[in-house]
Amino acid sequence: MNSEDILTEVAAQTAVCTHCKLHYGRKKAVPGAGNPHASIMFIGEGPGFHENQQGLPFVGAAGNFLDTLLEEADLDRDSVFITNVVKCRPPSNRDPLQEELDACKPYLERQIAAINPDVIVTLGRISMSYYINNGKISAIHGRRYWFNGRMIVPMYHPAAALHQPSLREVVKQDFAKLPEYVAMAQETRKNNPNLVAMSQVEDDDDAPDDKRTEQLSLF
Ligand code: URA
Repeated sequence: MNSEDILTEVAAQTAVCTHCKLHYGRKKAVPGAGNPHASIMFIGEGPGFHENQQGLPFVGAAGNFLDTLLEEADLDRDSVFITNVVKCRPPSNRDPLQEELDACKPYLERQIAAINPDVIVTLGRISMSYYINNGKISAIHGRRYWFNGRMIVPMYHPAAALHQPSLREVVKQDFAKLPEYVAMAQETRKNNPNLVAMSQVEDDDDAPDDKRTEQLSLF
């Protein structure tokens, strides 16, 4: 199966999924949207009101800001893939429960494997903790980590920046790093086919390239 077919299959499965209680409030599942061969995948938290109506990720106010951030980083929705850790809307936009995250995990994992992105950007605290244990977003946003052979970059959720204007510039600066991060991730993956076995490790900004590769290869 090619990546388009896998994504289509995942979308069809999420539309009728009953693996957790979130399906009771589902108008439309929001499996994700974008380029099936994207180098960058964005993972948000979960669909909100508008996403549940339309079946598309980030179409409300946070989505508008996300579009601005993408544009300023010379990206657009057709060149990236955008999804969430849960594909159905949590009631009143509450945080997804662990059992809901667990139930949806196989869909997300299949999407990641199919798209095979070089860089995964987690948007907000919930998707950050999918990869990084005990991370504090205020301390680690915009930093590079490696997990399962991919670069992981935690960032603030666009909605947080909407509610807290002082974060807007911070988020913009983090997004502006993405083209450089993609180039770095592609180079690192090309030179280190064994990175697939790597567990969570922070990339070292200050290390020279050969040292950095050596450090990453240890994991
Ligand atoms: N917030 C999210 O985390 N995801 C969406 O799709 C919309 C808002």
